[in-house]
Amino acid sequence: MSDNLIVVDHPLVQHKLTLMREKERSTRSFRQLLHEISHLLAYEVTRDIPLTTRTIETPLMPMEAPVIEGKKLALVSILRAGNGLLDGVLDLIPSARVGFIGLYRDEETLQPVQYYFKVPTDVHERQVIVVDPMLATGNSATAAIDLLKEAGATNISFLCLLAAPEGIARLSEAHPDVQIVTAAVDAKLNEIGYILPGLGDAGDRMYGTK
Ligand code: URA
Repeated sequence: MSDNLIVVDHPLVQHKLTLMREKERSTRSFRQLLHEISHLLAYEVTRDIPLTTRTIETPLMPMEAPVIEGKKLALVSILRAGNGLLDGVLDLIPSARVGFIGLYRDEETLQPVQYYFKVPTDVHERQVIVVDPMLATGNSATAAIDLLKEAGATNISFLCLLAAPEGIARLSEAHPDVQIVTAAVDAKLNEIGYILPGLGDAGDRMYGTK
């Protein structure tokens, strides 16, 4: 498996993911669990962001205290399912800038088709976290990161909930510099590019569209 892969095996993450996989779980509960899990994943994906220090005054004395270095992060959501992770990550990093990439999957070719792209203009100066719950074929993730690199981004992580080995291989081959953080790596894809055992269509399950 890829050197750039982090699987968040924390018991809370694993328990919540199991609840989300259950087919009878309601839309409301699925969305709530995704929100909760995204806090825990955000904690992990930001683990290595660089710190500097700032002089502050505590009530007792001055101290050199750690603060995050440089410009605030940029979060980029791959529409529409990315938004389910985005909100929770923003709870932890409320001053992050936010971008959106609209890609839909051509159901015959499984290739991504772009319909929207809007990211912060200074994306080249920021650590970028791309969010999309399902890393399946890896085609959308790879296309999104191609677009971000064309826009100047150089420091990119990819945060998802579930990944297939095929998607990890595709993304790592195209973008070996991109760290992938996920809650689990499932067995494989089915013939129409869904993750098995997976949790179904993340967008439909979070928005109740099917
Ligand atoms: N997208 C989803 O929502 N689910 C999958 O299993 C694969 C891609």
